[in-house]
Amino acid sequence: MAYLSTDKVEHHFHDVVIIGAGGAGLRCALQLADANCRVAVVSKVLPTRSHTVAAQGGMNAALGNVSSDHWHWHMYDTVKGSDYLGDQDAIEYMCRAAPRMVRELEHQGVPFSRLDNGTIYQRPFGGQSREFGEGGQASRTCAAADRTGHAILHTMYQQNLRAGTHFYDEFFALDLMMDDNGCQGVMAWDIAEGRYHLFQAKAVILATGGAGRIFQMTTNAHICTGDGGALVLDAGLPVEDMEFFQFHPTGIAGVGPLITEAVRGEGGYLLNGEGERFMERYAPTAKDLASRDVVSRAIAVEIREGRGCGPNKDHILLKLDHLGAELIMKRLPNIHELALRFADVDCTKEPIPVLPTAHYTMGGVPTNRFGEVVYADGDEKERVMESLYAIGEAACASVHGANRLGGNSLLEIIVFGRACGDQVLKHLGEKQYHPKLDPDCWKSGVARVERWLSGAPEQDDSVRISGIRDEMERIMQEHCSVYRNEAVMAEGVEHLERTAASLSSASIKDRGRVFNTELVEALELENLMGLARAAASGALARTESRGAHARDDYPERDDEQWMKHTLASIGENGVKLDYKPVRTVPMSVDSFPPKKRVY
Ligand SMILES: Cc1cc2nc3c(=O)[nH]c(=O)nc-3n(C[C@H](O)[C@H](O)[C@H](O)COP(=O)(O)OP(=O)(O)OC[C@H]3O[C@@H](n4cnc5c(N)ncnc54)[C@H](O)[C@@H]3O)c2cc1C
Repeated sequence: MAYLSTDKVEHHFHDVVIIGAGGAGLRCALQLADANCRVAVVSKVLPTRSHTVAAQGGMNAALGNVSSDHWHWHMYDTVKGSDYLGDQDAIEYMCRAAPRMVRELEHQGVPFSRLDNGTIYQRPFGGQSREFGEGGQASRTCAAADRTGHAILHTMYQQNLRAGTHFYDEFFALDLMMDDNGCQGVMAWDIAEGRYHLFQAKAVILATGGAGRIFQMTTNAHICTGDGGALVLDAGLPVEDMEFFQFHPTGIAGVGPLITEAVRGEGGYLLNGEGERFMERYAPTAKDLASRDVVSRAIAVEIREGRGCGPNKDHILLKLDHLGAELIMKRLPNIHELALRFADVDCTKEPIPVLPTAHYTMGGVPTNRFGEVVYADGDEKERVMESLYAIGEAACASVHGANRLGGNSLLEIIVFGRACGDQVLKHLGEKQYHPKLDPDCWKSGVARVERWLSGAPEQDDSVRISGIRDEMERIMQEHCSVYRNEAVMAEGVEHLERTAASLSSASIKDRGRVFNTELVEALELENLMGLARAAASGALARTESRGAHARDDYPERDDEQWMKHTLASIGENGVKLDYKPVRTVPMSVDSFPPKKRVY
């Protein structure tokens, strides 16, 4: 092909290309590399800087080391936690696989904390059944102190180096190469050298993580810009359930970094401005360990009704000093450091000021439980998009439904990373050769970058991307927060559409090709904007309250109308919404029918 002889685009052939080197991408890569596949991992940052490294509290599995437990209870808790929007076949698959996956990680080298009898340490987390254990609380979350994600990510990276996975670090995926036969590869930009690379593959896997950066206050790293969802939207496919965004109850007030739920699991609790342990009123049984949506709403109500803490009554306090310095330094050393650094608080002596903070993207690229990307055709039948897969926080399988339980995401990335690897191996058995490429397939990826670097005619030097990003984050924070209603959201959607339109006239100052971080920010902003629009429009349309989507004007869950997943795509006329049914039938056990959620 002519363009390959130019120095414009470097061409690579792999069996599989995985975009993303977090826990999901690396677990999947390991499955493939160990089966002698030629697998490439493309990541916009060095693999060990992926957001998985920041995960603190742990990973759920019904090992029953501390309390008695069973995967079926784990499944029940997850379905209930999802407010009955989770797909029960995928949830059963994940919860059944969990104990085996934790043991496998341990054998691969993850240094889990230990109990005195040598078994893996487990702590209680929010939303776990109370039928077991002392004090009526299951302890299901396996932890490596409060640095569980760090331990998992580094172990996965080392295992991949051993297995011979090919890494392309600091490469930014720009565009999926789609044709009538599905996905043929991906175009990427080498950030350090400023060159284009075409990755041709028999399967492409999106493992690009969450999109927390659509909000102003978030626990998410700067790189969590929802790039996989945006690539799918650009390919004309929908994203699922983006209106369900988890607010973690305990981000450090004013700045955002996360104080893990493990603090409450170890016995910490929340206090309002009157010194009251207010969660006892909202969740009499589970109290501070109710699920995250419940606790975040309770905090919002306390502050709104004037019972916040501090001179402005604008936050809540998380007390843990009564646990003692020894336990804090053994089980929560990272929290001690974060509180000191970001809030100037020594948590062995004083409580930490906290506020609900955008944390986790329940929605994402629609997949089945094998990681295959699915879409509905004209006849509404769900189909698999050939050679395209998605896993981890970028995907919507949907195991979290309307609200994720803490500790289920590290589990999801490992379980579905592995399952997707197995599914791709089957696919490769049928697809031996790389199909012929459309000779123009590289052009739209290149055009996406060149538009910024060459200064397209419509660009105006006075319209800066930083201003547009601030505006988008502000709109999402103010119009699509913990509590929502028609008027506020409608205004938000309108502002957001206007802000999105202004992106076409925005420009960047740095026109260089080598390590142009302003260019990367511009590309990320394009990605964020698509997902923010999908989230805001989906939220406005959903006239009920379910999980993380809480509306003042529709306070009840409406199973008759809304027991369905939202599918949002973006066309010339803006955001288009569609819906598909929830998969309520598990693989082998009886379905859990919707009930009122009480904690
Ligand atoms: C502070 C914090 C604490 C958490 N604690 C817990 C916990 O205790 N337990 C739990 O279960 N969950 C926790 N979570 C959630 C969990 O950590 C994440 O959902 C999970 O790690 C996501 O893994 P991932 O592999 O899907 O994505 P990530 O780890 O986010 O990795 C995404 C990868 O995609 C790459 N990428 C993205 N876009 C592009 C692009 N355009 N081109 C190339 N590469 C790209 C990035 O470079 C990165 O390698 C926490 C999350 C946060 C933010």
